[in-house]
Amino acid sequence: MSQFRERFSRFMIGRYGSDKLSRFLMGTVFALIFVGIFIRSYWVDIAALFLIALSYFRMFSKNIGKRFEENQKFERISFRVTEFFKKLRFKFQQIRQYHIYKCPSCGQKIRIPRGKGKVSVHCPKCSTDFIKKS
Ligand SMILES: [Zn+2]
Repeated sequence: MSQFRERFSRFMIGRYGSDKLSRFLMGTVFALIFVGIFIRSYWVDIAALFLIALSYFRMFSKNIGKRFEENQKFERISFRVTEFFKKLRFKFQQIRQYHIYKCPSCGQKIRIPRGKGKVSVHCPKCSTDFIKKS
């Protein structure tokens, strides 16, 4: 067994190995296998096999610069996606906790905490006062 490991580590010299993108690909493969339990379509299997092949290709690749670049690209995209969902979550929390009212005279958006009964709202932009239920 240790001989196998030694041979394997020798085999991996100069090869790219695992990164965040390959872990994501493998995660997607597991998700596809899980989906495949419910949706019996060979397209799911083909997609899973393709992703397995792709992640092995990347792991054993000797073009390290190119693979590194792919991973960088992936990390940029995944950062943007997580930021998008963070913002969305923040928006939902705001909606749960606050009413957003527009000032009737200037249209400025004003955030009022919910559940305080009738409140007088003072617009910070044009100093108009108006009454709203919070
Ligand atoms: Zn105003």
